[in-house]
Amino acid sequence: MTVYLVGAGPGDPGLLTARALELIAAAEVIVYDRLIPDSALQGAPPGAELIYAGKEGGGPSMPQPEIVRLLLEHGAAGRAVVRLKGGDSFVFGRGGEEGLALRAAGIPFEIVPGVTAGVAAPAYAGIPVTDRDLASAVAFVTGHEDPAKPESALDWAALAAFPGTLVLYMGLRRLGIVAQRLQDAGRTGSEPAAVIERGTFPDQRVVTGTLATIASLVAAAGIRAPAITIFGAVVGLREQLGWFERRPLAGLSVAVTRARAQASDLVARLASLGAEVLEAPAIEILALDGPAPDVKRYDLVCLTSPNGVHLLLERLAVAGLDARALAGARVAAIGPGTASALSEHGIRADIMPERFVAESLVEVLAGLPIKRALIARAAQARDVLPDALRARGAQVDIVALYETVAQPLGESELVAIGAADYLTFTSSSTVRFWFDAAGGRLRPGTRLVSIGPVTSATLRERGLEPDVEAGRHDIEGVVEALLADVRLFAKR
Ligand code: SAH
Repeated sequence: MTVYLVGAGPGDPGLLTARALELIAAAEVIVYDRLIPDSALQGAPPGAELIYAGKEGGGPSMPQPEIVRLLLEHGAAGRAVVRLKGGDSFVFGRGGEEGLALRAAGIPFEIVPGVTAGVAAPAYAGIPVTDRDLASAVAFVTGHEDPAKPESALDWAALAAFPGTLVLYMGLRRLGIVAQRLQDAGRTGSEPAAVIERGTFPDQRVVTGTLATIASLVAAAGIRAPAITIFGAVVGLREQLGWFERRPLAGLSVAVTRARAQASDLVARLASLGAEVLEAPAIEILALDGPAPDVKRYDLVCLTSPNGVHLLLERLAVAGLDARALAGARVAAIGPGTASALSEHGIRADIMPERFVAESLVEVLAGLPIKRALIARAAQARDVLPDALRARGAQVDIVALYETVAQPLGESELVAIGAADYLTFTSSSTVRFWFDAAGGRLRPGTRLVSIGPVTSATLRERGLEPDVEAGRHDIEGVVEALLADVRLFAKR
């Protein structure tokens, strides 16, 4: 077995490499530092041992010899060990030292490069570290050296004369001294400078100034670690190339109350639009046990959620059946999410209403001859569809495939979510469970977004008026409605 020294990138989980994700997914032991994206660790197998080796607050980190000891111990035991470090492990990451110790102990290792903060944070700030016209070279410099070193190893004269961009890692507290030394050594005080705090995270902050002014601007803005400093004419390009803050939902927090298993589409969409997404897994889906329904007996099979689709096919599979069992029936899907879940199993929905609510499905079905219908759905659901079909003389059976249960939320989660700029509700059950979990705690300015009229009605039952209701009752519709509201709000 091998020890993998893996760079995890600067913070945005999207900047983890494919190789890093693959190794994490197969790891038995993960030794990780601060600033590793949460989602990186969520990709670890359930049984993996996760060992934190970073600093907590300003406290001491695990001493380097102890980290090395852990790597040697687990590596020698033949386990798949991933040593996860921020950025790239060979850029101010002590990856070299860890590799040397492994080599000395005869333990095989591999190095997986990561996206280093010195390139990624400026990129997210709209600053290219080199540029055809402005900088033909870039230097990565540490602003914080080994405290045991008697004299600075930095050659200020050489750095000041360096013909290109300087990228300064660490040492935010010494920024004033560094800037002064560079000027004393002949670098011009008017050179553009930028400091990027928490680069690539949703709450990234950027301060720009000049070599002469940057330290006091940074102090005034209260910038804290981790932050990286860029000196060079390339900083001037930020005015045009800055993109991160210009995304439509930048600077806004949006809470998602869907069950985590279903939330990923919405979470990814919102994050890519720049929102800080707070996940409130207010509901959890529990599959119910039961036999496969005899689907051959029906001329209509209705599916009302992606969960329903997957769980129905799972029950059929247990009975030795597959999609072909549905060949004789018309298959109706309530909306595009459900239809795309069906297509994952090779089934094309015959029927899908224009508005994705039960009433609309009833209308579409009105013209069809239906004798026996099966409705596959959650245990608790509205009876609009079965009632309407029965009223037409059809025989209707319901198979309850899952139930939605409230998930306890931690106090700090509740506070963070209650203070979000937007709180999204994608079904009546998310409303009910959110209120059960949070007792309706909300910051006065929080705007409530509802997926459609049924969910809005459930909100009103609790005395709350939705601020935004989606015109199209699916995830994309929620996103569109939210964007429209943000645009309107910006104009006010
Ligand atoms: N191996 C890492 C660097 C570790 S040194 C890499 O390749 O990126 C730690 C320093 O990196 C911090 O003090 C800060 O200067 C910089 N840094 C790391 N993550 C950062 C981020 N998200 N935004 C800004 N600077 C960051």
